[in-house]
Amino acid sequence: MKTKEVQSLYEKFILPTYTQIPVCLVKGKGSRVWDLEGNEYLDFFPGWAVSALGHCHPSVVSAVKKQASKILHISNNFLNLKQAQLAQEISNHAFPAKTFFCNSGAEAAEGAIKFARKFGAGSRYEIITFRKSFHGRTMGAVAATAQDKIQNGFQPLLEGFRYATFNDLDSVKAAVTDKTIGIFLEPIQGEGGVQIATEEFIKGLRYLCDLRKILLMFDEVQTGMGRTGKMFAFQHYGVEPEVMTLAKALGGGVPIGALVINDRVAKGVFGPGSHGSTYGGNPLVTAAALGVFRAIKKDGLLKKSKDMGAYLLEKLSGLKEKFSVITDARGLGLMCALELSQPGAPVVDAARKKGLLINCTQDKVLRIMPAMTVSKKQVDKAVKILEESFQEAYAEAKAV
Ligand code: PLP
Repeated sequence: MKTKEVQSLYEKFILPTYTQIPVCLVKGKGSRVWDLEGNEYLDFFPGWAVSALGHCHPSVVSAVKKQASKILHISNNFLNLKQAQLAQEISNHAFPAKTFFCNSGAEAAEGAIKFARKFGAGSRYEIITFRKSFHGRTMGAVAATAQDKIQNGFQPLLEGFRYATFNDLDSVKAAVTDKTIGIFLEPIQGEGGVQIATEEFIKGLRYLCDLRKILLMFDEVQTGMGRTGKMFAFQHYGVEPEVMTLAKALGGGVPIGALVINDRVAKGVFGPGSHGSTYGGNPLVTAAALGVFRAIKKDGLLKKSKDMGAYLLEKLSGLKEKFSVITDARGLGLMCALELSQPGAPVVDAARKKGLLINCTQDKVLRIMPAMTVSKKQVDKAVKILEESFQEAYAEAKAV
């Protein structure tokens, strides 16, 4: 079959909810992927930040193979060895915690919202979230995501959300009422344009939460599992949340999400029957996630993410010096971005035609988030392609 034929199947049978790139990816290894016609690409935004170990990492592949031949799925009424071990890994790396497993980031957000409401016991139910945030596409997550483009057409939304401005503590203080039970945010807004929370902001939120007995809730769906150079992004700030959501890189490519509740507040809130998921944390996906933790430790990927991230950012800053269309180069670990003064689509298209896959968000922010296993040589190659793509995409943006 050819890509054109797959496209025509899509036209006939797939709901068109995504902007479609005319490339059908069929194989991946590390930071490289191949399409149906055998063209090779360097993947610098692997699977929307899911494949943080690179495609088909041996540790994940062997865990999946091994588990698939034993048992794929059991009901959550039975004890699941892999699920118990994974929850222990998460707790060991984050904070003393109890975890609920689900299948995606949005479901983890739903769980977080439900937990906060139950914790608030009816009298406190408001959750403060942030403009340009992104928490997923289910109705609770959509209400939490303070962006018109995500919410329009789906009103009435779930009640009880108040929106504040990221990195603006005064706007959060103004949004707090005596009904506030949680403050829910991404330490780095990913879809919102790779906006990094300042230390002052996060520390200020922690202080405010302590003062008003509010849950501090971090969405680490995109930032978690080593992406920023630490296992979880909150660890850069010297504070600990009460609630954390995970997904994406946690499974190394299989669908898994997690709602992680600090032992400080976990007791007596969710009991049998209060929440659930048929597939949540089944043996297959939890075995894969254990494979992810093993690889991060064995291959020293936190250090790699930090070091390679610093190298990539230095190179991206070099591009900023060369092209006036680039207004900012920023990042933490391997969560990097170039902000432009013009739409980024032309550079994304030009790069893809030259064999580099990146993402553009908020129209003008190029998201560059390679796997933690990326090599220096691959970073050099990607930056060279980016440079050529800028030259080609913006005629007037040639070297300043
Ligand atoms: N939270 C954040 C920070 C995300 O970036 C995303 C997805 O991009 C989600 C939640 C939703 O995750 P999922 O698409 O797995 O539901």
